[in-house]
Amino acid sequence: MTGDEGPVDDAPAPPASALWLGGELLEIATALFPDHPPQAIREWADPVRWRDPAPIGHRFLVLLCAGGDGRPPASGFEDILGAFSEAGWTLRRWASGHDGANSATALREGFEARVHRGGGRGILTLTGWTPVVYTGRQWSEPPFTISTAGGVLCNDCHGWGMCLECEGRPYGGGTGGYGRCWCAGSSDPGMCIECAGTGLLTPEEATSMRRHRGLPHTDSGDTESHDSNTSAFAAVSERSCGCGEFRCFWHNTVSEADGHPLSRFTGICHGCGAQRDHAFSLPLPGDTSA
Ligand SMILES: [Zn+2]
Ligand SMILES: [Zn+2]
Ligand SMILES: [Zn+2]
Repeated sequence: MTGDEGPVDDAPAPPASALWLGGELLEIATALFPDHPPQAIREWADPVRWRDPAPIGHRFLVLLCAGGDGRPPASGFEDILGAFSEAGWTLRRWASGHDGANSATALREGFEARVHRGGGRGILTLTGWTPVVYTGRQWSEPPFTISTAGGVLCNDCHGWGMCLECEGRPYGGGTGGYGRCWCAGSSDPGMCIECAGTGLLTPEEATSMRRHRGLPHTDSGDTESHDSNTSAFAAVSERSCGCGEFRCFWHNTVSEADGHPLSRFTGICHGCGAQRDHAFSLPLPGDTSA
């Protein structure tokens, strides 16, 4: 009983795979940023549901950051990708952001890490996750879990995209004694009817869900002061959206405003699809008076 991970779900202790992943990411980041030690920001687990509310397994995630102390980065994005590659990870690069931010996905034996380097002197963040660890029956890997989805999970299939009644086999199953699942009449038999197999709500559905639940469409606040981008990132990573969900892939940009670096974190809430946007005023580089 750890009891400090929020009210929703009692996740089991991190397994060996999660510990290995945390150590691996820390080692890569430490080699890249020898003078400014990377910081572990948080660890959490994603519950994986089937039909019942009780989870059938969990995915374990770790979040680290480096290079958020305002000093010029010792390593460019290419160096970072090179370090992953040398450590045996396969890389999938994303198109660069218009603000100079860079992202990539690193893959290794079922593990995945999202590498994000913010625009300007933005922070480097590494979000790593394990394959799903099932407690009973060993199911196949879901397309994504709540942290790794590119949107809000479908209420009916919880991200699986398939009909959970027949497990995607609409004909010949024994459902209800008919040998034919009710989803067999849809245009894509075996797929979840609610989300047409995507596993996600559409942006319009997420908007109407927020309206229905009385949730705001944006989550933002006044600009706060922080003594470093690392502490700003730690703060924003702990902050929950109006819907109660903290999971969000934060996109960072550091620019100048009123003579001070301004760090902005933006993202889409994985719980409700709200646009999240938080800004932090940082001290000038070299100002250690705080
Ligand atoms: Zn669905
Ligand atoms: Zn079905
Ligand atoms: Zn939300």
